[in-house]
Amino acid sequence: MKHESGSISINTENIFPIIKKWLYSEKDIFIRELVSNASDAISKMKKLDAIGEAELPEGNKFEIKVVVNKNDKTIKVIDNGLGMTEEEVKKYINQIAFSGAVDFLEKYKDKSDDGQIIGHFGLGFYSAFMVSQRVQIDTLSYQKDAAAVRWVSDGGTEFEMSDSDRNERGTTITLYLSDDGLEFTDEYKMRTTLEKYFAFLPYELYLEDSAKEEEKKEENKEEPKEGDDQANAEPKKPEPLNDTKPLWLKNPKDCTDEEYKQFYTKVFHDFNEPLFWIHLNMDYPFNLKGILYFPKLKHEFETMEGQIKLYYNQVFVADNIKEVIPEFLLLLKGVLDCPDLPLNVSRSFLQNDGYVNKISTHITKKVADKLTSLFENDRENYNKYWDDINPFVKYGCVREEKFYDRVKDALIFKSTKGGYTTLKEYLENNKEKHENKVFYVSDEKQQAQYIKLFNENGMEAVILTNMIDNHFMSLLESKGSGLQFNRIDADISASMKQENTGIPEDNVSYLENLFKETVNDEKLKIQVESLKNETIPAVVLLSEQSRRMQEMSKMFGGMDMGHMFPKEQTLVLNSSNKLVKALLDLKDKDERKDDVKLVSEHIYDLAMMSHQTLEPDAMAKFIQRSNEILMKVL
Ligand code: ADP
Ligand code: MG
Repeated sequence: MKHESGSISINTENIFPIIKKWLYSEKDIFIRELVSNASDAISKMKKLDAIGEAELPEGNKFEIKVVVNKNDKTIKVIDNGLGMTEEEVKKYINQIAFSGAVDFLEKYKDKSDDGQIIGHFGLGFYSAFMVSQRVQIDTLSYQKDAAAVRWVSDGGTEFEMSDSDRNERGTTITLYLSDDGLEFTDEYKMRTTLEKYFAFLPYELYLEDSAKEEEKKEENKEEPKEGDDQANAEPKKPEPLNDTKPLWLKNPKDCTDEEYKQFYTKVFHDFNEPLFWIHLNMDYPFNLKGILYFPKLKHEFETMEGQIKLYYNQVFVADNIKEVIPEFLLLLKGVLDCPDLPLNVSRSFLQNDGYVNKISTHITKKVADKLTSLFENDRENYNKYWDDINPFVKYGCVREEKFYDRVKDALIFKSTKGGYTTLKEYLENNKEKHENKVFYVSDEKQQAQYIKLFNENGMEAVILTNMIDNHFMSLLESKGSGLQFNRIDADISASMKQENTGIPEDNVSYLENLFKETVNDEKLKIQVESLKNETIPAVVLLSEQSRRMQEMSKMFGGMDMGHMFPKEQTLVLNSSNKLVKALLDLKDKDERKDDVKLVSEHIYDLAMMSHQTLEPDAMAKFIQRSNEILMKVL
């Protein structure tokens, strides 16, 4: 075959439905695109003025106006940007996927370096057809002697061009809506959509409901009330919808705490003050601005739920984009503006983008730096924040090795002795009682009995009650050689036992047999110890290893692995306790056999109860037995 080359032609009629349907998943995107184009048109005009290629009339005030009209089913997007000549309409509008924005940047790239251009792919304009049966452009270019142009297209594959009556510089896009778009003529709907995307647009943005205006005029004509000042009063000056200078663009040095807090309340509608924040402000090697807030949890059991709003040159793109922001940071609340990201079309582009990695690494570093500097320079407040921020920090450590490496020395633990301790401090302070072992409490109420035992013996445990703590402990164990976390009910440490109190062998086996019979559970181990605390007859211990296995298998898969990892429980009988001693005294008294059984059952239940909640039928038996014992007392 002869060698041949050429370019593949695309048939618009085939490609169009695809663009309409798949390119943008949310319908309101057309507003984002059209207002972004209006904003771009103004940015370009400003730039042309700045470099002396155009001259703005005196008193020029840039603005964008969106006008909705229910009655004639239209939406207009009006700007006073640079407008387009006939040639430009042909070039930029009639060619799909030819981006005028990129073309513009290319053309002026040497003359000025401030970006702010939103457009990217040359597809945005066509999103108008997602909601319109007809789209009309009326535009007048800033260029001398330019004539106003009208471009009209039904459905987007064919167009007509003619003269337009527009007589001011700029562009009006008129959408004649199809049924798909009618909801956007509702003033409230349009307002919330505009606020979502453009709360921080750099140029003033106004919304007008011309159907409402018309109705008002009608009413006033029909019934002119005498002495009604209101009808004659000056119409209220409309307020722009947006804040054209968001706080994140300001130099951190010039921002006050008050401003940060106000901004937080306004953006996240959270009336709890944030704990602290990080202001990202960098131009090089990439452009990244934003503010990340550490929110306060409203109540103890609230899970952290953050929100990171991503902006692209002050235009909202989306919430919580996992491809850009490391997942654990999504627990924070914040705004990020990264104009270096190609965010306009599809998220799937992002994953392979080199910038994404760099940006996410940078943010991670900044967050870690903030935490360590608080830890080092303001430990008192850091301790105070810890209850609120610890799930976030731990999740970050588990998810991101780099983050763990940066914050590992700033990890702290709430202690049963009150206050907070680092791992290092804990190990140092307790090394005489147990080496390389950390005892922890996972439920302060349930484990109160064990905590009491610990306190009596001058021992210390840390409090780890969060969902993430199991993973967090495994992580720390994998990092610290030989380090071991043990739940407070996993073991009786040597320092709780009395020294030199050998109990006769036959007493030990008597107690073991007695309780084996009473409890009738083959898996239960029984152990006799003499504890320093003489008031407790028995405690139940649960092997750390088997408990963790069980918890893990419950968490993943939900499969019942009970048979593979049986609960390794041990009942420790305290031979220094009076009740236990009394049982031994009755060893040979057959006539008291029933009483011995009653008491031993009760001892077991009590030990169990301070370990976990009783099963329903065990509970019923316990209550029944308690009543029997009370009867005996009287
Ligand atoms: P992009 O914004 O990615 O370049 P669009 O499809 O959104 O692609 O727009 C195509 C081009 O049409 C723009 O780059 C711009 O040159 C031109 N254009 C669209 N809307 C306007 C407007 N309101 N004012 C001036 N030019 C516009
Ligand atoms: Mg665009």
